Amino acid sequence: MPSADTLRAAIRDVVDFPKPGIVFKDITPVLADPALFRDAITLICDSAGGQRIDKVVGIDARGFIFAAAVADRLGAGFIPVRKKGKLPWKTRQQAYSLEYGESVVELHEDAVAPGETVLLVDDLLATGGTAGAALNLLDQLGAQVVGVTFLIELGFLGGRRMLGDHKVTSILVFD
Ligand code: AMP
Repeated sequence: MPSADTLRAAIRDVVDFPKPGIVFKDITPVLADPALFRDAITLICDSAGGQRIDKVVGIDARGFIFAAAVADRLGAGFIPVRKKGKLPWKTRQQAYSLEYGESVVELHEDAVAPGETVLLVDDLLATGGTAGAALNLLDQLGAQVVGVTFLIELGFLGGRRMLGDHKVTSILVFD
């Protein structure tokens, strides 16, 4: 059984990145270690609880790394939610609030068919704005979101409240 404690020990805190006051959770040591990366993917896959997943949706950009590997492991398709202006086909867009200002995420209109089962994956839950916007896009397409999974949750920011009554799983919670 993969150990969340070993994963936790590998996450590197980078103080004042990308700006003063932020403690950035650096996941690159996990990615660089074959056993830890595999453990992370296994734990994220387990969060699906054995349910059939049609599409694993990953959030730009570090979410892609985990979501793509999870999709491969689960035999599901991979769908990217991207920052504005990166997707080439027709998109749905959703704006969300940042600490200062606003950002926009996009999803291809034909990325998920109505009723398809989706696992939404990102590396980290902070305020929940990004994942909340991604869920809004998936709702617009009629996706059946069976779970939302993060490698890391910053519990003290309360981001879960942005995710409605979805089943939210975090492999590592930092308080
Ligand atoms: P939020 O919308 O506030 O939940 O922010 C989540 C997104 O921002 C995720 O895609 C993370 O990759 C990134 N993020 C936010 N805060 C941090 C942090 N302290 N360390 C690493 N990534 C972060």
